[in-house]
Amino acid sequence: MKREVRVRFAPSPTGPLHIGGVRTALYNYLFARHHGGKMILRIEDTDSQRFVEGAEAYIIESLRWCGIEIDEGVGVGGPHAPYRQSERRDIYLKYAKQLVDAGWAYYAFDTSAELEALRHKAEERGETFAYNYTVRTQLPTSLSLPKDEVDARIARGDVWVIRFKMPENEIVKMHDLIRGDVEVNTSTLDDKVLYKSVDALPTYHLANIVDDHLMEISHVIRGEEWLPSLPLHYLLYRAFGWEESQPEFAHLPLLLKPTGGGKLSKRDGDKMGFPVFPLYWVSPTGETAHGYREDGYFPEAFINMLALLGWNPGTEQEIFSMQELIDAFSLDRVSKSGARFQPDKAKWFNAQYMHHKSDAELAALFQPALKEHGIEVGDEVAGRVAGIMKERATFISDLWNLTSYFFIAPIEYEEKQLKKYWKGENPARLAALREVLAGIDDFSLENTERIVHGWIEQHEYPMGQIMNSLRLALVGAGKGPGMYDVTSFLGKEETLRRIDHLLNTVKPLE
Ligand code: GLU
Repeated sequence: MKREVRVRFAPSPTGPLHIGGVRTALYNYLFARHHGGKMILRIEDTDSQRFVEGAEAYIIESLRWCGIEIDEGVGVGGPHAPYRQSERRDIYLKYAKQLVDAGWAYYAFDTSAELEALRHKAEERGETFAYNYTVRTQLPTSLSLPKDEVDARIARGDVWVIRFKMPENEIVKMHDLIRGDVEVNTSTLDDKVLYKSVDALPTYHLANIVDDHLMEISHVIRGEEWLPSLPLHYLLYRAFGWEESQPEFAHLPLLLKPTGGGKLSKRDGDKMGFPVFPLYWVSPTGETAHGYREDGYFPEAFINMLALLGWNPGTEQEIFSMQELIDAFSLDRVSKSGARFQPDKAKWFNAQYMHHKSDAELAALFQPALKEHGIEVGDEVAGRVAGIMKERATFISDLWNLTSYFFIAPIEYEEKQLKKYWKGENPARLAALREVLAGIDDFSLENTERIVHGWIEQHEYPMGQIMNSLRLALVGAGKGPGMYDVTSFLGKEETLRRIDHLLNTVKPLE
């Protein structure tokens, strides 16, 4: 029987979610939706030392903003609730003890001073210390102490941990859906802590495996940094006797710095001026970090960009809606090697989405900026203006500078343009053009263009000179869209008023 696809995104709330984490969530989501499966959000908050207030809410809001929907999990509920590991703490001890009873794990009572001494000795011998088969019987553990002493220590409340008893010199054969077959000799691995009596909490490894099992996860899709944990996870499934239902694994390549070497960090973003987090973040101690949302990126553009960092569709297509990503996504097109982050490409994607927005969408997004500048216009007008200039904008915040002259008549004129065009025959010809315009009844773009062009041709005037003096009058500068976009928007009265203002207030330069 084919297994139901159930994937989970399992972040630890240790700070703002890095865009690499968002990509992991996205690939999980695309995979789940592609296979008609379920997407689960589990919060792995068993490391109280690294817990950061506000991080969970940030993660949930980030996923919401990106359009990554959660079927089961924190904030949603579901058949395996609770989905926050700190609320599942009663579950894990039983499993840790089960491993001890089966000989796969042991109690360790060593103090940090004892460990330090061993570490020191190892270093003196020029070796790196590892907590493994070479030391586990030299330290006070349930492997070296008599059973009654172990029981007595636990009963009197000594501090203990349960560690995994890593087998010696065994080859673990693993399979990764992206990397293929991987092998590791267990002698290179150490005895990881699974459970700590100090806070009565499991560590990541135990909680993660137990929960993936209980939540019936079919595929674990996560960052490459977890690949070194895979042998332990394989062995844990074996130790529990859960190999039959063990999930398949896929480890995603790293997101690399724009320069190539190394993992993309907040510092790279600060240095080069791009965010590495989806949303603006303020830490409990007041440190802040830029976010894509607040920096003006559209969530669709952000997601589209992230999807292509490490996965390719095998075609030239670059623009994908979420549904298109879902349809096209497969793990076998995820690359093994790291994906270099390109800040300019992020902007390029945003511009593409900008260019494809309808006037109505643009109106809603542009209105706040208009209001901020004291411009009260209806959505139809706001959308029309934004629509005329969207091809030149990357962000909504670019629109005001690109369009302010539609709403506010120039009172000053750009020096460079004045010098170039406000001289010779131009002022007189602009005055003549004013009369032509004054005689037009239908001021629509096409009609005005037809009549003005006819007039220019009839007199054999230089087109560029005439149009640039008109631009000077209407825009005040050498920028802006086609002149008839402007005249038709302004209407006859305002067009004439602006021409008159230039004619009456600025003396020609010669
Ligand atoms: N809690 C781990 C993290 O923060 C989850 C790793 C996994 O997906 O197994 O990345």
